[in-house]
Amino acid sequence: MYLKRLDMSGFKSFADRTQMEFVPGITAVVGPNGSGKSNVTDGIRWVLGEQSAKSLRGSKMEDVIFAGSESRKPVGYCEVAMTFDNSEHKLPLDYTEVTVTRRVYRSGDSEYLLNKQTCRLRDIHELFMDTGIGKDAYSMIGQGKIDEILSSKSEDRRAIFEEAAGIVKYKTRKKEAEKKLEGTEQNLTRIRDLIHELH
Ligand code: ATP
Repeated sequence: MYLKRLDMSGFKSFADRTQMEFVPGITAVVGPNGSGKSNVTDGIRWVLGEQSAKSLRGSKMEDVIFAGSESRKPVGYCEVAMTFDNSEHKLPLDYTEVTVTRRVYRSGDSEYLLNKQTCRLRDIHELFMDTGIGKDAYSMIGQGKIDEILSSKSEDRRAIFEEAAGIVKYKTRKKEAEKKLEGTEQNLTRIRDLIHELH
């Protein structure tokens, strides 16, 4: 599985629809200061569900929408689509290409799509769990990330190995099941109390 294509439209400095094709191996993005190189990685984190405007170097989520320039009007919405080669079916979907899309309007409305079908952010999280792909996963190594990993708490470091080992999915399901179990225990206690009162 590899990143095949990135399409951006109205995202930050990419006012027009812009397509970047990637091939297996190394792709380097070069350009003068302020030309939008970091906006490309911001786009990748954003489409994978980044919710923090600050970590996308803005103050509110609307800042990701092209704000206009001397020669161009602002746009009303932005969209980023990331396409993966899935010919080996590493992602558990029947498709040989998987495209994740995120769209947001100035009104605040937003949506996520998986191969053009509307989905929840949760579906995207679950799909990429244990693949190393995600807004915070190890496939994105930003500036200062290595230092952060080395100086972080051992439990946080452990999370990186758990993702690589492919057990995050099971830990998440276990946590959800434990939560449900706890809810059921509480319901049972309430029912026992009621039965006791009725006797
Ligand atoms: P450097 O090499 O200095 O790190 P860079 O190539 O990584 O620069 P970016 O930081 O990705 O550049 O891009 C910054 C540019 O993006 C700035 O010119 C900024 O005005 C523009 N920009 C960011 N958000 C928007 C927006 N919402 N609308 C229009 N332009 C934007």
